[in-house]
Amino acid sequence: MTVQHPETTAHPMSQAPALSIVAPCLNEAAGLDAFLARMIAAAETTGLSYEIVLVDDGSTDQTWARMVQARASNPHLRALRLSRNFGHQRALSAGLSRARGARVLLIDADLQDPPEALGPMLALMDAHHADVVYGRRLERAGESWFKKASARLFYRVLRWLSSTDIPADTGDFRLLSSRIVAHLNAMPEQQRYLRGMIAWLGGTQVPYDYRRESRGTGQTGYPLRRMFSFAADAITGFSMAPLRLCLALAGLSIGLALGLLVYVLASVVAGSAVRGWASLAMIFLFFQSVQLLCIGLVGEYLGRLFMEQKRRPLFIVADELGGDPSPGD
Ligand code: UDP
Ligand code: MG
Repeated sequence: MTVQHPETTAHPMSQAPALSIVAPCLNEAAGLDAFLARMIAAAETTGLSYEIVLVDDGSTDQTWARMVQARASNPHLRALRLSRNFGHQRALSAGLSRARGARVLLIDADLQDPPEALGPMLALMDAHHADVVYGRRLERAGESWFKKASARLFYRVLRWLSSTDIPADTGDFRLLSSRIVAHLNAMPEQQRYLRGMIAWLGGTQVPYDYRRESRGTGQTGYPLRRMFSFAADAITGFSMAPLRLCLALAGLSIGLALGLLVYVLASVVAGSAVRGWASLAMIFLFFQSVQLLCIGLVGEYLGRLFMEQKRRPLFIVADELGGDPSPGD
């Protein structure tokens, strides 16, 4: 088992291909062959030398076996198995750390992102001398009303809260220059919100509009709980606005308290000071909740600081086929 840290991922650049394709997979056994067929066809069409880096993010189905099988008959494939499920963003980070290409395509393995977009994305990158071509979803087929609405809202709130210009309605489907990949690999942050990190890096970033398909097979690895934690990573990673919200709330509560003081003084003068305990209790509770909320927000950032300062490796690789010499290769 090898422990990999982003700062120590130097590769012997033997025969670096022109293009790397990174596809993270969590329980994608059923759809992997279909994905590979379309992805390989799209890569062959470009005429470029390429490698496909498959990352098995702790699947519990036959995903790894399928990868090993596919690799046996195709030297373009490389396969990486993480020691457990580290989550989409880290699986992508693992793939990025291994990608040697001059350009790197990040693509989901569930065929929601069309592999055939590769050609047009490469052309866009050339035409604009771009560092990044990011897929922008014009439509999302086969996703629930709730997922679409919450995603829409989330991207807009994030844009509003953050000073980094993170484009709305984009996923991780994108083509990156090796320069961007090198920067990403050198960024040590634990809570990885890759599309935010890429936006933060700047340079020339151009959109490629596409229609997001529904899943070929299998099911989403982003249940509601994960979507919330993903949103929290994005917001706390790219915005200090929630912390500032505490200050705004504090200002508001001071204003209310002063108003209340005026009311109390006036009622003392009028001789009716005894009544109103219920409303006082309510107000007390209200301020109590404001305080708790503020403490909670501070705790959230503090917790993240605590996690961050450990500087743990982002992922642990259990098996690796292709690329670096490794056991079993
Ligand atoms: N994925 C992963 N690890 C996870 C969750 C997802 O590697 O913990 C992979 C998954 O196999 C797919 C891609 O990341 O190729 C996108 O995930 P998913 O389709 O579940 O997300 P959605 O499209 O529903 O947002
Ligand atoms: Mg998907």
